[in-house]
Amino acid sequence: MVRLLLRFSEEQVPQPITSEIILEYKVPIVILVAHVNSKGGEILAEVPDEAQQKIVKAFRKKGVSVTIPKLIEVDTEKCFSCGSCVALCPVEAISIEKDSTVEFDKEKCLGSTCSICVDACPARAIKSVKQANGDQSAGVKK
Ligand code: SF4
Ligand code: SF4
Repeated sequence: MVRLLLRFSEEQVPQPITSEIILEYKVPIVILVAHVNSKGGEILAEVPDEAQQKIVKAFRKKGVSVTIPKLIEVDTEKCFSCGSCVALCPVEAISIEKDSTVEFDKEKCLGSTCSICVDACPARAIKSVKQANGDQSAGVKK
C-alpha cells in the first residue's frame, strides 16, 4: 500500500470525490486520518501499489492536490529512550515498552504530514524517508 496526502479546497469538500473515485476505479482507498471541515482539509489515505498512478491522476483530474508523504525511520542505536517523542505523538504511534525501549507503530504514524517527533528528538534518531513503493513523479512531500 502507498500513502497519499489529499488536500481538498473549500469548494471540493461538499463533493463526494473520494467515493466517486472508489466506485469508478473499483479500488479500495483506506482513510487513515481526516482533518476536514467546511473550509477544506486533508485526508491521509492508503491505496494499493498497483493503483497508485491512476488514483493520483483521478484525484488531480478533479482538482484535488495529491502528494506522497515520507515515512519515518528510527535509528534504534541512537535512541536513548528519553521519551520526549512519546507524549508529542498526536496518534499514539509511539510507546515505551516494559524494558524501556521505544516502539513506533508505523501503521499509525502520519509520516511527514506530522514529523513532530523528528524535530523533537534530541538524539536525531528519527528521520523522514521516501516511501519505497511511492511513485516519486507523483510528488513527495518534503
Ligand atoms: S511523525 Fe508524528 S505521527 Fe508519526 S510517530 Fe512521529 S509524532 Fe507520531
Ligand atoms: S525522542 Fe529520540 S531519543 Fe528520545 S525516545 Fe524518542 S526516538 Fe528515542
